Amino acid sequence: MLPEFDNTEVAFSYRSNAALKQARFLFASMGSPTLTKIGIGFTKMAMAIKLPINGIIKSTIFKQFCGGETMEEAAETATMLGKYHIGVILDYGVEGKEGESEFDKAVPEFLKAIDFASSQQNIPFISIKVTGFSRFSLLEKLHAKAELNASELEEWQRVENRIDTICARAAEKNIKVLVDAEESWIQDPIDELTDKMMEKYNTQKAFVYNTFQLYLHSRLAFLKRSFTRAQERKYLLGAKLVRGAYMEKERARAAEKNYPSPVQPDKQHSDNDYNEAVDFCIENLENLELFIGTHNEKSCMLAAQKMVAKNLNFKHPHIYFSQLFGMSDNISFNLAQQGFHVAKYLPYGPVADVMPYLMRRAQENTSVAGQTGRELGLINTELKRRKLL
Ligand SMILES: Cc1cc2nc3c(=O)[nH]c(=O)nc-3n(C[C@H](O)[C@H](O)[C@H](O)COP(=O)(O)OP(=O)(O)OC[C@H]3O[C@@H](n4cnc5c(N)ncnc54)[C@H](O)[C@@H]3O)c2cc1C
Repeated sequence: MLPEFDNTEVAFSYRSNAALKQARFLFASMGSPTLTKIGIGFTKMAMAIKLPINGIIKSTIFKQFCGGETMEEAAETATMLGKYHIGVILDYGVEGKEGESEFDKAVPEFLKAIDFASSQQNIPFISIKVTGFSRFSLLEKLHAKAELNASELEEWQRVENRIDTICARAAEKNIKVLVDAEESWIQDPIDELTDKMMEKYNTQKAFVYNTFQLYLHSRLAFLKRSFTRAQERKYLLGAKLVRGAYMEKERARAAEKNYPSPVQPDKQHSDNDYNEAVDFCIENLENLELFIGTHNEKSCMLAAQKMVAKNLNFKHPHIYFSQLFGMSDNISFNLAQQGFHVAKYLPYGPVADVMPYLMRRAQENTSVAGQTGRELGLINTELKRRKLL
């Protein structure tokens, strides 16, 4: 049966009344762009001057969107999700660290996550960001096709080795690696490196997935080119589809540097390309593996309907639906209840280090994006339903 995304009983079955009320307070606060702006500004300032705010953050926004500060803490959340047939993508969410020693230190964290994932029933994926292993400005230089000097070439080789170490361990342990997409002005080297890894490790099944941001008007064509490349070179394409998280930044940079914005002219164009990309992937499922990363109900429903129309098993090994932990449980839990493959992105890491991730979630959940209204409405409906019982 197709899922019903307005079934709040299923959506919030894992949440107590108290937890739901806390979530309601958080989403209501984030719903105000002014409050969010002030909150983000204050948090940045408080962290810079080392005010003791970790406790407040940990019991509010961190609790909503993160699995814990350590992998062991995240494991408890993963086990809880497993009880509802929901899988997990372990995401060591530390961002914004620069320096060779930090990049080297990150590798064993990911190897540990892979080893742990392989010991669990419901953790088929981990996710990585190439900026967790490479200097941002090196990626910028590569993207701009500027020539690298000898030491930069060695530096890039070290980045490649780090990613290769992770992908090799993942393939050995039967865990899949999702490579996140980032800002468009560093994306070419990320794509090239990910293509290389897919070619090396995806010969039998997709262990490595690239991410396609359909809010960029070039990406639908790029997805199709990536598929053709995979066919020619005889590997499976791993295709993680998202709309894209850096719209304001992309537009602001394009305006500042006076080049045409790479972002679609409006939301409808992003939606159209997203849904067409899902369609394209489902039509070519024999030769690719699809990861549908979205909180958009319509896109999820269209994908589910297409699976029904094509008589595909809901647990088709090449299709996963995914939402972020703490968001759109109405989609995740209802899809899982009907037997679809679902996995939640579950970031973990020290509070201070996951702040960039939390700030993106806060911004995404302001009323501008329209997400808060839906989350709040669903939480209120569920609280009312429980009260009537
Ligand atoms: C599992 C998962 C993994 C993710 N991984 C990544 C990643 O690797 N890289 C990344 O960048 N993001 C990632 N995201 C975030 C994602 O790109 C979106 O920002 C977020 O999911 C909101 O889009 P939506 O499809 O869920 O839904 P919706 O709420 O329907 O769409 C909102 C999105 O539409 C687009 N949009 C909104 N307004 C306009 C406009 N005026 N013009 C053009 N486009 C517009 C923007 O992309 C916006 O984020 C991930 C999300 C999920 C759920």
